[in-house]
Amino acid sequence: WKNRMGNIVVKLPDNTEKQLPPDSTGLDLAKSIGSGLAKAAIAYTSDGIQKDLLDPLDNNSVVSLITINSNEGIEIMRHTLTAQVLALAVKNLYPDSKLAIGPTIDNGFYYDFSFKDTFSVEDLDKVEKEMRNIIQSRSVITKLLFSKKDAINLFNEIDEPFKAEIIESSDQEDNFQIYKQEETGFIDLCKGPHLPSLKMIGEFKLTHVSGAYWKGDASQPMLTRIYGTAWNTKKELDKYLQQLKEAEVRDHRKLGKEMNLFHFQDEAPGMVFWHPAGWTIYNELQNYMRKMQTNSGYEEIRTPEVLDRKLWEKSGHWDKYRENMYITEIDEKHANEKRVNALKPMNCPCHVQVYNYGLKSYKDLPVRFTEFGSLHRYEPSGTMHGLMRVRSFTQDDGHIFCTEDQIESETKNFIQLLSKVYEDLGFTDFVIKLSTRPDKRMGSNEIWDKSEKALQDAIEKLDLEYQIDEGGGAFYGPKLDFVLTDAIGRDWQCGTLQADFNLPGRFNSTYVNENGDKSVPVLLHRAVLGSFERFIGIMLENYGGNLPFWLAPTQVVITTITDAANEYAVTLFNLLKSNNIRVKLDNRNEQISYKIREHSLLKVPHILIVGTNEVEENKVSIRSFGSEKTISMSVEEFLADCVSKHKNPS
Ligand code: ZN
Repeated sequence: WKNRMGNIVVKLPDNTEKQLPPDSTGLDLAKSIGSGLAKAAIAYTSDGIQKDLLDPLDNNSVVSLITINSNEGIEIMRHTLTAQVLALAVKNLYPDSKLAIGPTIDNGFYYDFSFKDTFSVEDLDKVEKEMRNIIQSRSVITKLLFSKKDAINLFNEIDEPFKAEIIESSDQEDNFQIYKQEETGFIDLCKGPHLPSLKMIGEFKLTHVSGAYWKGDASQPMLTRIYGTAWNTKKELDKYLQQLKEAEVRDHRKLGKEMNLFHFQDEAPGMVFWHPAGWTIYNELQNYMRKMQTNSGYEEIRTPEVLDRKLWEKSGHWDKYRENMYITEIDEKHANEKRVNALKPMNCPCHVQVYNYGLKSYKDLPVRFTEFGSLHRYEPSGTMHGLMRVRSFTQDDGHIFCTEDQIESETKNFIQLLSKVYEDLGFTDFVIKLSTRPDKRMGSNEIWDKSEKALQDAIEKLDLEYQIDEGGGAFYGPKLDFVLTDAIGRDWQCGTLQADFNLPGRFNSTYVNENGDKSVPVLLHRAVLGSFERFIGIMLENYGGNLPFWLAPTQVVITTITDAANEYAVTLFNLLKSNNIRVKLDNRNEQISYKIREHSLLKVPHILIVGTNEVEENKVSIRSFGSEKTISMSVEEFLADCVSKHKNPS
């Protein structure tokens, strides 16, 4: 790069170069490009690192301006809103409160405060109003740099002990960034960047309040966490708030209770007690997956759940993952030894044992194993969330042992399986993320080139879109993640395919290649649903509990209007039952409207109403879920309809 007369040179994303006078800032760069950009720019990245708009440019750096309408821009806006506006609003209204931390999260932000008195959700309106007042000032925000000592002194002087503690525990010695609002003089410590001024704040709403320990540690003081969401436009905000409302109605924990599917209790935190109705859904889903995977060329296996620590030492889990493992000890009475075992957190090492049993030749590859393996992983109690995040779960796990040349066709085969499964289960939208080699990695560049290309080619040959996460792969291989979108627009990462150049070597897995020599196979870890527990949670929320007929715990309920229809109802019941329909008979002496309401709450797809008319005409009257109308059908017609919908779509 040329650099004339002490000017600085930067490279823009389109590969053009810009020369600017020394000490030029991001704003100067934006101005040199155009006045529109100078207005829209709020920060910039220099060689991938975010900077404030008024930070001086680095010579010979690759610079990209960040505008408010980008994902990075909205993140910076949310961050500025929580750190500069929410924090100040709370300090104005509650001068005794202390500031802890205020990061951004998906779709919004939070801030942790210590209040002298209690703070509740009713107080949010007041804080919101104060926030709007502060934004009205349209204050300019500037940045000051402090040494560690000066920064600690500053926050001790204004009696913000949490801030002083953060600085004290940092390894950094200098350049602590403190942002200041010019209008009010309010200051806050922050990694930044921030908006250059409060006038760029968009639309926001404070949503809820919860408790949170300082540093997430139960031995530390309990703080109050205020959550909010922020967007660039009112339309985006309203759309998100509507989505929140929808999500509340569809909450799988609420549906689980209403539909009597499962529960949790303190003796087994994060582990599901499945009730008959919930277990029916689980089994139907598992039957379906089993069939789909068999059709796709997999063989199902079953491996132990409790294994000696020696195996976990060999796999590397004992060293890297022990904190999340359930350890058990047992006295081996006759051998007179104490064995230390762990409940498996992953199936992979076990599948390698099955692969290693007996000599393999290249003609045997690919070997495709699946297991509905029951796994245990210790998760901190604060992170658990209904079925979505548990400590004990079952994966639709699979491992493919193949040659390097087979990665592409195996990936293609897997994506085809996954697409069909998602579509059958009601998700037509998904995106693929390809994560490529990180700086720290094992394996030659040649194998990384080959496998990254194989994954990419598989996606492209299927004509699917994908995003690339540069450097986001694991140290042992590139991976694909599959993120699906549900009915109310939320994203869930479920499927995954991960190439692994490490594990087979660790366990001395080999095959005899075409030259008669031993080669190490590539291992592909893969799952379509991820975990059954979480996927059922996602499905319940996606369908709002109104599951497809083949998955519904009870498919048909026969309700009687009069005792005179009892005999007819029993005949119908037996007929449906003998055709494997999950049917219940409700001949209680209750009002028909009461019975319908009760079964509707359980979201039964078809409620049959039988009285003397139905008996005389040998018909059924059907109230289908979600419909106010009752339709009439012959028994044969209804049975045929049920039988066709009952079969899973595999
Ligand atoms: Zn695995």
